[in-house]
Amino acid sequence: MKNIGLKIVAIMVAILFHYSINAQAMNTNAAQNSTSIFPQGNKAPAEYFTGTAWVQTLLPNDDTLTTVISNVVFEPGARNNWHKHPAGQILICTEGIGYFQERSKPIQTLHPGDVVKILPDVEHWHGASPNSRFTHIAVNVNTERGIVQWLQPVSDAEYNKQ
Ligand code: MN
Repeated sequence: MKNIGLKIVAIMVAILFHYSINAQAMNTNAAQNSTSIFPQGNKAPAEYFTGTAWVQTLLPNDDTLTTVISNVVFEPGARNNWHKHPAGQILICTEGIGYFQERSKPIQTLHPGDVVKILPDVEHWHGASPNSRFTHIAVNVNTERGIVQWLQPVSDAEYNKQ
């Protein structure tokens, strides 16, 4: 009788410990996502991105403000194709470590708080660094002049060249 009682106690402790571990795991996941104040959004189109990225439109285009604002999340190693914006673009970096490169210039590393001004028709790409997710807000102004012209993908050789 005494042994059965001990076994029940042991099982109860095991069950409580199991739920405690699960609760800790869930709290960790919640903490990892807690800095994302915007929804992750939809998967970015594979034809214009290498790797996995997510795009959430924050402000759709209209005829009055002629501005599009999007939140873009890049998984580690993900980047968009070479491209240019006929009216330029502003990137506001919010999470993780990212990369940005203009044609014929070295890759720049981006950190939260960095603001990048990209002049009209300057060929460039942006994305995550190899070991970190990266998130930026992209602001496209004067959209009546066009938003983006996509070019070729950023090869692994280009991406890994430092
Ligand atoms: Mn761009």
